[in-house]
Amino acid sequence: MKLRDLSWAETLNREVLWASIRAEITTCRRCELHKSRTKAVPGEGNLYSKVMFLGEAPGRSEDEEGRPFVGAAGRLLTKLVESIGLKREDVFITNVVKCRPPGNREPRFEEISACSYFTDAIVSLVNPSLIVTLGNYAGYYVFEMKGGVRWLGISRMRGRLYRLKVLGQERAVIPTYHPAAALYNPQTLAMLQNDFTLIKEYVHGSEGEGVGLLKFLHGGNP
Ligand code: SF4
Repeated sequence: MKLRDLSWAETLNREVLWASIRAEITTCRRCELHKSRTKAVPGEGNLYSKVMFLGEAPGRSEDEEGRPFVGAAGRLLTKLVESIGLKREDVFITNVVKCRPPGNREPRFEEISACSYFTDAIVSLVNPSLIVTLGNYAGYYVFEMKGGVRWLGISRMRGRLYRLKVLGQERAVIPTYHPAAALYNPQTLAMLQNDFTLIKEYVHGSEGEGVGLLKFLHGGNP
């Protein structure tokens, strides 16, 4: 289905639902992280995209701006997305926790679990056919919490495309490193870039399933 084929009712519905999820996130107190945040970071991007990037947690820049992946790691993510022929605004980007953990510590299980109320809603709303998990915590959420598959850690799980039933739909899932881990580590960067070639193959349809995805993303004008 192409964007232009969506009925106005469906389009309006999705926008309205997203506005309501965003509003709920910005005032949420479901976990301790609400106490230290400056701004909650619900996520952003194309609500009709078939590709979702799921990260870990907002950092300092994201907390200040209320937008995901806007610091150094975000700039690397944007470059990687562009390297496979997409624009940042073509995809949807969010994190497994929507508020910054104090001092950039790792998110706790109970925080990921509390925030899954929203993560589940966002995945169901955007309904991506491909989820790219960035780092261990996003992998844990998709594989172990939602997909019923044991998460063995990013270094063992990355570099492959999996098919999992996530929130009622079969979806392709590609786990890779969080861009922050690649900023000062050339070996990790090389593996991350390698994993993006898998994403590219999926998006450009070499596996058969992504056929028409670029057309979908660009309204028929790839
Ligand atoms: S991290 Fe999620 S669950 Fe916790 S306060 Fe923020 S929005 Fe609510």
